[in-house]
Amino acid sequence: MSEKSKYSFKCLEQKCETKACHIRPKVLVTIGDLNRWMTQGYIMNILPGITIHMPGSEEDTFYFETARKPLEADSEVSACIFYNEQANGCEIRYSRPISCQTFPLEFNGEKYHLSSKDCPGVGEGEVSKEALQESRDLAEKEFRERTETTAALPAIYSVMMNQIVRQSAEAMQNLSDEDRKKMDEILAKSSEDSTTDEDATEDQSE
Ligand code: SF4
Repeated sequence: MSEKSKYSFKCLEQKCETKACHIRPKVLVTIGDLNRWMTQGYIMNILPGITIHMPGSEEDTFYFETARKPLEADSEVSACIFYNEQANGCEIRYSRPISCQTFPLEFNGEKYHLSSKDCPGVGEGEVSKEALQESRDLAEKEFRERTETTAALPAIYSVMMNQIVRQSAEAMQNLSDEDRKKMDEILAKSSEDSTTDEDATEDQSE
C-alpha cells in the first residue's frame, strides 16, 4: 500500500457477509494478547481456545493461534473457535486478539498491506489523517508483538518442557517402594500386552 493510498476501514460486524476475518487460515495470538487477558481477568475464559503451533519444518516457526472448528454451513471451511456462526459474530469481541483488531491491514516491518481482499469493511469508515494514523499504529504494534512472540516462543517452550521432564524425574524418585512396585507391574503388564498384540498381528499376517 503506497503512502498516498487512502485506507479506511470499519468492521461491518454481524452484517459482514464474507466472514473474512473469522475464516482466515490462522488467527495469530501474541504474548501481548495473553498479558492483556491476564490483566483484564479474561484469561481463563479465553485460554481453552488458544493452541500452540509446533514447527513442522526448518522454515516453520512456533506461534500461538486460536483453535479451529468447521463451519456448520460448510464443513469444508474452518473458522476461528470464537466465531459464533448463528450470531455471525465474535464471542470475545470485547477483547479479541490484536491480529483481529488490525485485520485486514498488516505491517511487515517496512510496508503496510492488505492481508485479505475479501473484507468488505475496507473502504468504509472515516477517511482522515488521524484515522489512517490510528490504523497504522495498531498494525505496527501488532507487528512488534508478533515478532516478539515468534522470537520468545522457542525459549519459553523449551523451558516448560525441561520443567515437565524435571518434575517427572523427581516424581519418579519420590515414589514409595510400594508405588514403585505397582508402577513396575503396570509397565510389565503393558509391555506383555503389546508383545501379545504384536504376536497376534504376526500370526494373522502369516
Ligand atoms: S477472535 Fe473473534 S474476531 Fe478474531 S477471528 Fe476469532 S471470532 Fe473472529
